[in-house]
Amino acid sequence: MSSNRDLWLNASFTKTACPEWNCPTCKTGKLTVAPANVYSTETRDSIQHRDDPDWEAYWISYKFSASLKCDNAKCADVVVTSGWGSVEEGYIETDNDWYSEYYDSFRPEFFTPHLNYFTIESACPKIIQDEINKSFSLFFLDAHSCANKIRIAIELLMNEFKIPSSRINKGKRIGLSLHARIIKFGLKYPKITNALLAIKWIGNAGSHTSPIEKKDIIDAYDILEHSLTEIFSTKTKETEKIVKEINKKKAPRSKGKQH
Ligand SMILES: [Zn+2]
Repeated sequence: MSSNRDLWLNASFTKTACPEWNCPTCKTGKLTVAPANVYSTETRDSIQHRDDPDWEAYWISYKFSASLKCDNAKCADVVVTSGWGSVEEGYIETDNDWYSEYYDSFRPEFFTPHLNYFTIESACPKIIQDEINKSFSLFFLDAHSCANKIRIAIELLMNEFKIPSSRINKGKRIGLSLHARIIKFGLKYPKITNALLAIKWIGNAGSHTSPIEKKDIIDAYDILEHSLTEIFSTKTKETEKIVKEINKKKAPRSKGKQH
């Protein structure tokens, strides 16, 4: 399970603190925020509501843009983000008392360059990587489009492994569902058939009008990361080779064949 899970699900920040998002450029630094780099403007609706006799500070809404800076001195790249903001009430405890304080809270809808939920295996074909990256860039804006991109990535994965997308039945060409294609793919990679089917259910929800939540997308990302590691990681391939060798010998690799 990725440590990014909470950082992506609770993606709000203040003028002085933001979640420890990984820098998309160097992948090791963390993004930081400074008050001077957050530009917020109260929306027209919000200003009009100020005339209401029941008006409360938490009715305020903003549009914002901010530049977040990587804390890795060797990188120090900047990520620009935008979205909407509101006013929240926080409780501050003192030695024997407490008081409340209002502060601005910002919820990003867009980052450029986009954040990466996980690092995609470099051996994964670029066409699939591109689709997953599009999904990452849509995550904070639109869960449906995001899920749809994940589904397309799985279709492309099937294409990459030459899993047919149709079959001939009584002389007619019939399209194969993604489900059927995953089952065929599973003949080669049985360990991840169920994982891919689970991603497909989430992707399906994104392609239809049924509701889908960000936490469902995060589930799909976690399963996708695991699946791509199983398929493309050189480490996995090396381990599988060693396992095969030991089982064939029925002995440790350094020893002679046992009976
Ligand atoms: Zn960086």
